[in-house]
Amino acid sequence: MVTGSVLLSYTVCDREAWLIAHNIEPNQNNPFIEIGRLIHTESYKNHQIREISLPGIKIDMIYEQGQVVVVGEIKKSSKFLKGARLQLLYYLSEIKKRNVDAVGRILIPKEKKQINVILDEQSANELREAIKNVEKIIVLPKPPQRKRTGFCSKCGYEEFCWS
Ligand code: SF4
Repeated sequence: MVTGSVLLSYTVCDREAWLIAHNIEPNQNNPFIEIGRLIHTESYKNHQIREISLPGIKIDMIYEQGQVVVVGEIKKSSKFLKGARLQLLYYLSEIKKRNVDAVGRILIPKEKKQINVILDEQSANELREAIKNVEKIIVLPKPPQRKRTGFCSKCGYEEFCWS
């Protein structure tokens, strides 16, 4: 199943996207996963609505700012912005199907950055294209071949792929 996390991973590694889509758990003791978890729990504690889960969606927080509904996605750095943007577009599109119009905001507390993400015609097309590509990957009977890249050393599947 395509989810926000699968789309995020797809921008980094096809194999990772396949593994996540097939519910193969990454190593939860990976220090980079732990740091990410800590930033998620310790940042923006004052926001009342945190973590909403729907099928394929795990929204970090949702809040109103004036008349606007904001869907926030907390990231530990701006390193994977392309994937974070795609993930948020997916969430915006899914909640739009439930009649909620919202804007997305990538929140990077360590860098004191906030980046808006808007679901418009162009970004919706981009999302559709990415979903089509991801579907082609996740229907494969086996994970795509591993490829050593700069991401592997920080990936929760490093042991799975390389030991
Ligand atoms: S360790 Fe490397 S090849 Fe394996 S899933 Fe992670 S990024 Fe992909």
